[in-house]
Amino acid sequence: MQILIVEDDRPLARGLQTALGKQGYAVNHVENGKDCLHVVATEAPDIIILDLGLPDMDGLKVLQQIRSQSSSLPVILLTARDSIDDKVAGLDCGADDYLAKPFEMTELFARLRVLERRLSTVKSTLIILGNVTLDTTTQAVTFEGQQLELSRKEYMLLKNLMENTGKVLTRATLETRLYSWGEEVCSNALEVHIHHLRKKLGADFIKTVRGVGYKVNQA
Ligand code: CA
Repeated sequence: MQILIVEDDRPLARGLQTALGKQGYAVNHVENGKDCLHVVATEAPDIIILDLGLPDMDGLKVLQQIRSQSSSLPVILLTARDSIDDKVAGLDCGADDYLAKPFEMTELFARLRVLERRLSTVKSTLIILGNVTLDTTTQAVTFEGQQLELSRKEYMLLKNLMENTGKVLTRATLETRLYSWGEEVCSNALEVHIHHLRKKLGADFIKTVRGVGYKVNQA
């Protein structure tokens, strides 16, 4: 999942970036509405966390323009103003969810999981495929009943594949969902993670679609 944070409060943005990065999300950050709209048009983030009070544009205007480009891109609004009017205006403009500052990170994580499930072909927090289970709430993965130790990237890679069972995910898609801007990535990093996952899950669970990407199939 690639998350774009649109927030001019730098300490808050940095805190979000760190916390979400630890959860395994690829997180990018811009500080104003104009840059947000540019990224939406060019990079196709998966989820946007949008502050309403931006230096150059009203957040609701930004949201309206996002909606004119993409009707389904999930947007969570952040606001310092915890008023019913703001909430209603935000939802009327097409926000998917709304958090008033200050908020608990755990609450944001829970809201993100809801949006991720909406994007996924899987509607449950527990994904079971053959002898592999992945629990998106506890982030636990088991193989043949045994809990596996996975790195953050391995977990996110597997989660992306299992949430899109039967669909091929291209290398480019997986890379944008796994890595933030500016993150140092070796050209074969993805293959290395796949290699490690295959050692833990058996060689056949993740299929290579030559020249395109990877997929997992319904058992
Ligand atoms: Ca602000």
